[in-house]
Amino acid sequence: MSPSQKESLFDHYRKSLAAADLKTTHQDSLICPLCWQETRFDDLSLEHIMPGSVGGKRCILTCTQCNNEHGSSFDSHLAQFQKLRDGFKGHGTIPAKLKVLGKEVVANVEWGDGYKNINIVGKASNPAEVSAMQDDAKAGNVGELNLTLLYGYNKNNFQTGLLRCAYLAVFKCFGYEYANHEVVQVIRRRICDSTLEHPRLESLIGELRDGSLPYRDSYVIVPGNVNGVEFFLVILLLRKETVTNQFVYMPVPVARCDEFCDMMERSSKDNDGKKLTIPHELVFT
Ligand SMILES: [Zn+2]
Repeated sequence: MSPSQKESLFDHYRKSLAAADLKTTHQDSLICPLCWQETRFDDLSLEHIMPGSVGGKRCILTCTQCNNEHGSSFDSHLAQFQKLRDGFKGHGTIPAKLKVLGKEVVANVEWGDGYKNINIVGKASNPAEVSAMQDDAKAGNVGELNLTLLYGYNKNNFQTGLLRCAYLAVFKCFGYEYANHEVVQVIRRRICDSTLEHPRLESLIGELRDGSLPYRDSYVIVPGNVNGVEFFLVILLLRKETVTNQFVYMPVPVARCDEFCDMMERSSKDNDGKKLTIPHELVFT
């Protein structure tokens, strides 16, 4: 019988632990790449690197607790972000609140090219407000429309979710020798505690806006270099009806923590609006 995906990943990362000279008390344990706690085989579970809800397929092993807690904290924010992007590109609707002449109802907005349709969601609205609004319309009392789009995701959770995907992608590729490095541990601790202010996520994360990339995978890792400081550019493709390309800068293990963070702070200020050139031939997946 061929080993399960869980067993093959376990064997692979047991070797990676040994290569990084990390010890565990038990032979049937790994260190969870997120919380960094020793975890026995039975408490490990398969976790998507990119959430399945945005097209992710590849998996890694984490402890069950990180899998459950992080999954619900971050995955839904990535999915909601992409659903909203789909909505702005004419796929599906965007939830909103509509206020007219002091009445408020729940609505869905179709964001078409050159038109916007606002549909009142009767089931989710107060029936009295809906009928009062209809009466106003019939009587010709059309006041100012006040439409609030409900984005439904939280920026900190969204960005922490992206950082988590990027970290797990690079961990999948380079294992414990990579993750055990102090500069990478700084990133790992930030994922597990989203109240930490360091490193500042705005300096590490952004969006590639220039069109479609030639990748079928849900992420790719590209090595880069700015003024002698090396990094990995992890490109994350969020896929629903449409695709959004996010990127995360991750340190390479030779970088010093302060150098990496300083460089990213500087380059995030310098590079606003500049074109980023990606060497497609050097990509890891
Ligand atoms: Zn864990």
